[in-house]
Amino acid sequence: MSFEMTTSSTLFERAKASIPGGVNSPVRAFGSVGGTPPYLVRGKGALLWDADGNEYVDMVGSWGPMILGHADDQVVQAVQEAAAKSLSFGAPHEGEIELAETVIERIAPVEQIRMVNSGTEATMSALRLARGFTGRDMIIKFAGCYHGHVDSLLAEAGSGVATFALPGSAGVTDATAHDTLVLPYGDQEALEAAFAEHGERIAAIITEAAPCNMGVISPGNFNEFLRRTADQHGSLLIIDEVLTGFRASREGFYGVDGVAADLVTFGKVIGGGMPVGAFGGRADIMQRLSPLGPVYQAGTLSGNPLATAAGLATLRQLEEPVYEQITTAGDALKRELTSALSAEGVPHTVNTAGTLFSVFFTDGPVGDYEAAKAQNTEAFAAFFHAMLDQGVYMPPSAFEAYFVSRAHDDAIIDRVVSALPAAARAAA
Ligand code: PLP
Repeated sequence: MSFEMTTSSTLFERAKASIPGGVNSPVRAFGSVGGTPPYLVRGKGALLWDADGNEYVDMVGSWGPMILGHADDQVVQAVQEAAAKSLSFGAPHEGEIELAETVIERIAPVEQIRMVNSGTEATMSALRLARGFTGRDMIIKFAGCYHGHVDSLLAEAGSGVATFALPGSAGVTDATAHDTLVLPYGDQEALEAAFAEHGERIAAIITEAAPCNMGVISPGNFNEFLRRTADQHGSLLIIDEVLTGFRASREGFYGVDGVAADLVTFGKVIGGGMPVGAFGGRADIMQRLSPLGPVYQAGTLSGNPLATAAGLATLRQLEEPVYEQITTAGDALKRELTSALSAEGVPHTVNTAGTLFSVFFTDGPVGDYEAAKAQNTEAFAAFFHAMLDQGVYMPPSAFEAYFVSRAHDDAIIDRVVSALPAAARAAA
């Protein structure tokens, strides 16, 4: 790690005076890996450039949205054309219908959909709707699943199998957390026990379609089990596809395991890089929303014309060949990662879900948060910095998916692969 003053380090110091921690979202501060985040000035395809003139292969893709790579020509053109007409109407326009129809046509359980401005807003609104629809108050979530910074979903589990949540952040009241039950991911018995005790009060189970925020975990048949259990008890199943939507496959993770949720949440890819989220699902539930029903939900910028234009221009390009390419590139990376880490004797486990994957710096298997937390985060930090020094910008946390885009062609993958041996040595 170098400590010389760079433009990025100067900017980071300056930012700390006016922005808490210097960042607008915590993980950007490199807290768990140390060092200074590069200040980015430009991206094109799979490449990024920082304020110091460094070029990087981007394995973060803005945490998911940039599935076509940066500054995709068609997306940029669509946004420019929309911007020339108005940055915001705050009133109906045709683009939002086209985006809604595109999602509905692709993802069968989504009969109606409403646009919001982030994944957090999508899950927050879906929870309110589930409670309003069922007239129940409690929510089940799983340890290690992230659904945005919604108060009740920041809850961490205490000890025990089925625990009432404790607030996962200062500023979240005990009462709010108390309506969330946190269970270990994949634990069918814990779920049955929770329903046996609280079934009448449980409005919904919320789960990531495939957990990607404790590293990637394949759900196997867990979503199917959740579907059955929710049905048995008159609860709703909310599947969070903010990260997996239009990424795990053309139809999101629904295209992988075919489990139909009552409500689905979206974000990231659906906005093509603009601040967008959405939630949708069964029409009888969605029609409980204001102005038709009693569940209030609104937004000055919801359905914003630039955001819908970017989302549409992205989704229209997302056909099978894109997913084939992302899969091929991901497979090559997984193979080479395994080979480089094995060559240096670095304990690791590679997990896959749809086109998504991540590497855990621990001996496998990793199926829940406890196993994910057993990682050697120091080895990851060393690996991360060695990659960064060689021009590969990995997610700056050991608990993230690796994001491959359409722009990650053979030449780009070769650049990542050539950095792996030295990074594996650093991690050993
Ligand atoms: N749900 C999942 C599965 C996510 O991965 C995220 C963000 O990473 C969110 C919800 C929150 O989305 P946003 O950051 O747009 O609020």
